[in-house]
Amino acid sequence: MTTNNELYQRAINVLPGGVNSPVRAFLSVGGTPYFVARASGAHVWDEEGNEYLDYVQSYGASILGHADPVVLSAITEAAALGSTFGAPTLSEVRLAEELTSCVPGLEMIRMTSSGTEAAMSAIRLARGATGRSKVVKFAGCYHGHTDSLLAAGGSGVANQGLVGSAGVPSSAVADTVVVPFNVVPELDTDVAVLAIEPVAANMGLVPPEPGFLEACRRECDRVGALLLFDEVITGFRLGRSGATGWSGVAPDVWAFGKVIGGGLPVGAFGASREIMANVAPLGPVYQGGTLSGNPLATAAGLAALSQLTDDRYDELTAKAERLANGLARAVAGAGLPVQVPQVGPLVGLFFADAPVRDYDDAKIAADTGLYPVFFHAMLERGIAFAPGPYEAIFPSLAHSDADIDRTIEAAAEAATDCANSQ
Ligand SMILES: *Cc1c(COP(=O)(O)O)cnc(C)c1O
Repeated sequence: MTTNNELYQRAINVLPGGVNSPVRAFLSVGGTPYFVARASGAHVWDEEGNEYLDYVQSYGASILGHADPVVLSAITEAAALGSTFGAPTLSEVRLAEELTSCVPGLEMIRMTSSGTEAAMSAIRLARGATGRSKVVKFAGCYHGHTDSLLAAGGSGVANQGLVGSAGVPSSAVADTVVVPFNVVPELDTDVAVLAIEPVAANMGLVPPEPGFLEACRRECDRVGALLLFDEVITGFRLGRSGATGWSGVAPDVWAFGKVIGGGLPVGAFGASREIMANVAPLGPVYQGGTLSGNPLATAAGLAALSQLTDDRYDELTAKAERLANGLARAVAGAGLPVQVPQVGPLVGLFFADAPVRDYDDAKIAADTGLYPVFFHAMLERGIAFAPGPYEAIFPSLAHSDADIDRTIEAAAEAATDCANSQ
């Protein structure tokens, strides 16, 4: 058997931090990451054979749980027919039809291979369509690792304690303005696009306050700016119509990823037919990709979405509610400050006295230093939360009520460990 530590030593020799995405390196919680050997449903097993009840679920990409049998057979069937062609396919048309039929106002999409590309291309489209340069984004919202969008990016960027990143020239962010979440920004007519995670899920979970999204919509309309909903997490997570249906607020441009790929590398951006007419080859906004609309990814996405009926979202929301209520009780029971926001199937966890409404609040909660202690106490009990205080908690449809109850029991013990550590 190879131990996690042996693997980690090999990994750090050939991969920066031993990982291919920074948060996985455990820097913000300390210790050595577990190396996943396999996963099924709600569980992952590491190379040492340890089993974990998994609330990372690839940061929300796996909504059905790992290795869902329907998704799995769709992937293997598609793979046998060839994995990439550089030509259009039926599968990508079907996925585009599925997305546009579910999300009100979304008429056309272009597929990409990641959420980063989707958000980056959505910004390019918005700039191309408006002929304007300025991008306004909210602190703590993450839109992938594109140069111009990395400022105050939440998630892994927050964990690294970086404002943006080295290697991003000031010219790349010269047209990016960062404003606080849950405060309606005053825009001007230089603004091409106001980008938002409509339910912020990369600074922990921070819901929009009532009326906030509506007011953002009105402010965009007032100055002729486009509103971009980055639904890479919320799309097909909050429900079939994502945050758009959930909020009743229609943006002009969308970015998707995660759930729509059924666990394979995928992204998509989209808009009305009129706005999408700007995208090459119809219009002057260039965008493309060798593996875009990949047949395995589209097959996996379709197989996942085909199972996500309204009933299943109700079921997942009920699980999330059970988890959120239990976590809040368990942590408060140990005498710790706690906030457990929940929006449909999404859950967050902050060690804070009052509701967290923006990135500054989220940072204060993270700075208590309680999360790393809680994280390790849970991991010791076989429950994997994300290795950083700025990530959401992702129960999947494969989590049983018994799994959730076990999580809550473990959380009560973990919270006691936290209280004793102070
Ligand atoms: C994950 C995420 C992205 C980036 O997607 P990748 O597939 O990791 O490139 C963009 N926006 C949001 C809201 C995300 O959660």
